[in-house]
Amino acid sequence: MRNIRNMKYDWSYTGENGPENWHGLCEEFSEAEKFPLQSPIGLSKEESTVDLEGCSLHFHYQEQLFTEKEFKNTFHFVPIDLKSSVTFHGEKYFLTDIHFHTPSEHILEAIHSPLEVHLVHMNALGENLVVGSLFLISDSGEEFSWEKGGHEQVFLPEFFLPKASSHFHYVGSLTTPPTKGPIHWFVFDTFSAVNFSFLELISSGIPFENNRPLQERRDRKIVYCSNKNSSTFD
Ligand SMILES: [Zn+2]
Repeated sequence: MRNIRNMKYDWSYTGENGPENWHGLCEEFSEAEKFPLQSPIGLSKEESTVDLEGCSLHFHYQEQLFTEKEFKNTFHFVPIDLKSSVTFHGEKYFLTDIHFHTPSEHILEAIHSPLEVHLVHMNALGENLVVGSLFLISDSGEEFSWEKGGHEQVFLPEFFLPKASSHFHYVGSLTTPPTKGPIHWFVFDTFSAVNFSFLELISSGIPFENNRPLQERRDRKIVYCSNKNSSTFD
């Protein structure tokens, strides 16, 4: 079943409306793809630089109420209130959406992981900051407790962050149309693990593969922030 709520144009991950043709679907998508630094990209420590300027991401996540939704070809947890936030260079961005890509969109040291979580934030000007967190799926992975069926439930969004705070930071775009930029991206370089039941929760009614192919890195700077000099969890 395809769900087209909130989709102005019917884009998908395969066929005529797939990623190679998103730019041709409407003027808005075409304009967005003209931003030259598109996402996702491959990330590796060897190809990144250490720059403390890019390492000032701070998390202020709190337990809060979420509802589940399926739109834009993926499963979402949408916070009811603006409560959890991050700050980057003193600018505050509230958590506005958590959604999922299978397999991962970013690749880490050439590894494509089975699941990538996007924690989407927005500041007062409507600008986005996205945190990407990569997951493995295993029997011993953490259980996420959620009763499927449109219910509202409380959880701490920190569940989707790894224990270590080391990460990559770069400037890119949204990975779903309109793929506009610039967007500050923060992608953790450690994998977490969730139980198989989580995959069942997020994969019914959405495409089996919903990852945008890798985009050209061009000559953009990728900053690597190690544990010692990077973000902090409050
Ligand atoms: Zn995403």
